Amino acid sequence: MFQTLAVLMLAGTLVAQGPARGHQTARVGREKPTAAVIREYLAPLVSRYRLKFYFEPEQIPKCTWKLEFATATQKDLPVLLSYVRLFAEEWRKYPPEFVKRSKLSGICFVKDLKLKKQKRAALPDYFNERLYYDFGFLRKSSRLYLRHVVHHEYYHMLEQQWNGNAYYKDPAWARLNTKGFHYGSGGANARSPGVGRLDHPKPGFVNAYAMSGLEEDKAEIWALLFVPQQWRLVSRWKESDGILAAKVRYLEAFARKKDKGMNTRYWVRIREPGRKETRRSQLEAGK
Ligand SMILES: [Zn+2]
Repeated sequence: MFQTLAVLMLAGTLVAQGPARGHQTARVGREKPTAAVIREYLAPLVSRYRLKFYFEPEQIPKCTWKLEFATATQKDLPVLLSYVRLFAEEWRKYPPEFVKRSKLSGICFVKDLKLKKQKRAALPDYFNERLYYDFGFLRKSSRLYLRHVVHHEYYHMLEQQWNGNAYYKDPAWARLNTKGFHYGSGGANARSPGVGRLDHPKPGFVNAYAMSGLEEDKAEIWALLFVPQQWRLVSRWKESDGILAAKVRYLEAFARKKDKGMNTRYWVRIREPGRKETRRSQLEAGK
């Protein structure tokens, strides 16, 4: 399951429902998911975040890494639409200015994504400021995992953008760990089954994968900040785990430094228990 979170080089099915015009939303929701419908669904994200989205075969831009992937066929469009919906629900949690400052320029939705023969649910191309997501994982992975992946992968881009290296061995973060702790040999080598299971194996760590590399530890906790079902676990663990609590504070402070709006109220809002993306809130957020 952990094909994604394991990113050596730290490397979607968008179904219509989100355009900012309410009456059109209902109309689009009943349409078959064509590429045009998917584009229309993505339009609010394009304008809100100034991002480009790629999913049609001739459009996928060249990546820095030598990737293998396929693109959505007509038959894949319903799955692609579902994936895009999930992606959009997660992405709308980011304030537009935060994303713009991060210099991210594009998102590619592909399938059968591989790097060096390893399957990946997502992959960052931080030199071209683009993220690749494999929408085909919707057929085999839990939606919760895929929500997590949206944020995990973006964190690698943030690290490259703001700390100069996706593999930055942040000394301040390393000091938070127990004295003498050493990370493993990186996410690409941590692929055994269950490595991504959120089981709090040791103080300061949410899973075994987080212990594989400092960069993965940060990306894992970053993702958990955004996914309420997973946040509830972390929130409980950190009550008796000072290291984990300090790591959470560290990343929340990092976000706030980049965007003042990512304050305590912001986190409370995005973690509201049972928060549902109602059509109204989707529309509002999608503007
Ligand atoms: Zn990773």
